[in-house]
Amino acid sequence: MAYILQGDTGDWEVVIGLEVHAQVISNAKLFSGAATAFGAEPNSQVSFVDAGFPGMLPVINRICVEQAVRTGLGLKARINLTSVFARKNYFYADLPQGYQISQYELPIVGEGTLTIDLPDGSTKAIGIERLHLEQDAGKSLHDQHPTKSFIDLNRSGVALMEIVSKPDLRSPEEAGLYVAKLRSILRYLGTCDGNMQEGSMRCDANVSVRPKGASELRTRCEIKNVNSIRFLQQAIEYEARRHIEVYEAGGSINQETRLFDSAKGETRSMRSKEHAHDYRYFPDPDLLPLVLDPKMVETIKAGLPELPDEKKERFMGEYGLNATDAGVLVADQASAAFFESVAKGRDPKLAANWVMGDFFGALNATGRTIDDPPVTAAHLGELVDLIKDGTLSGRLAKEVFALMVETGKGPAALVEEKGLKQVTDTGAIETAIEAVMAANPDKVAEIRAGKDKLIGWFVGQVMKATQGKANPGMLNELLAKKLKG
Ligand code: MN
Repeated sequence: MAYILQGDTGDWEVVIGLEVHAQVISNAKLFSGAATAFGAEPNSQVSFVDAGFPGMLPVINRICVEQAVRTGLGLKARINLTSVFARKNYFYADLPQGYQISQYELPIVGEGTLTIDLPDGSTKAIGIERLHLEQDAGKSLHDQHPTKSFIDLNRSGVALMEIVSKPDLRSPEEAGLYVAKLRSILRYLGTCDGNMQEGSMRCDANVSVRPKGASELRTRCEIKNVNSIRFLQQAIEYEARRHIEVYEAGGSINQETRLFDSAKGETRSMRSKEHAHDYRYFPDPDLLPLVLDPKMVETIKAGLPELPDEKKERFMGEYGLNATDAGVLVADQASAAFFESVAKGRDPKLAANWVMGDFFGALNATGRTIDDPPVTAAHLGELVDLIKDGTLSGRLAKEVFALMVETGKGPAALVEEKGLKQVTDTGAIETAIEAVMAANPDKVAEIRAGKDKLIGWFVGQVMKATQGKANPGMLNELLAKKLKG
């Protein structure tokens, strides 16, 4: 479904490219040995390099390089065996060096692809332009004192991967799916924890619009540092509508950097867009070009895990799941593993429905995680077995599942304890049907006269009489036979 915005003069299309800053999972910073743990005391994880002391020399952290290569391979991207670190010069109070060490002309990773999964089960390939390594800046705190600002340099020098997409995204929804998929891949790879609230993944969106059907790219604005998928989508939609309004009023858009105000749901101008030449990029004279051993790249490639797209393919082939269900189950590695242990040797479709339905529901309701689940995979598997062998109807199974969440007990024990076994004894069901018919001769007569709607009422009465334990299939069959007389 194309996303088209209607203006007064016609239909408009939105063009979006994303730049995601992902914090590399590493115990130490990109060019120093200082620690990177989140939430530490301010300025407790700062080396002389991170604080920009004169005469300090940066030394590249091998782990961060390997993580960038791993991510590049996971994005099916070209790995550049030679890349160059450059200084990006600008002044800011929380940037003690006076420049950020980044990569400019020769990034460590070149073009790649990320596939997004659309809600209708189809997919769309989004181009990756590049991935480069760079340092994070420190943090200014303006809300600690009425007249002073504070600086925390714990983040200064932490390794970031800046992952730049091509302008291939065409709706806020696609942008959200892209970020979610990228986060999923980074988590599978173990190269970024993807935690947007803690700032380990931050997103900049380049947004422009053009008349529907046009191929030109119009002036874009960059919305900086959005830290949730929902805000990203709101910001893009707001910005696209703003551009349309300006164009339709005869105005023009200036290239600029904007901020999203989540309280007001608006973007506002922050500064006119800098161009690359404003930063006076030049190769960092303290660092040699980064040259990778092809064998190291091969070793990393051989150790990659099964990634979401491949796992999804396999779930569709091996378990017969549709694209949408498979996509939901593989989004998170631990959920996929949980599903596989429930489904092993069982009806996979039934297992998938229980994992995505009642089980995910219980995760939400209890606030627990897949690593500490309210019901174990083994217990959920046993429940699926009890449904399959006819011990439990779907309705009773839901009741048993709720008790499993509540007590932590296994389903077999609960069925025994609470007497929840489904009644499949035809004699017992027949007796219950006969009792309800005998108590309601007028209704029996009405049904026999053709009032079929009453059959549902009878089913309800018999279910009530058996405390919901009658096998629904048998009940319907026997009831139809008896009512016919
Ligand atoms: Mn950057």
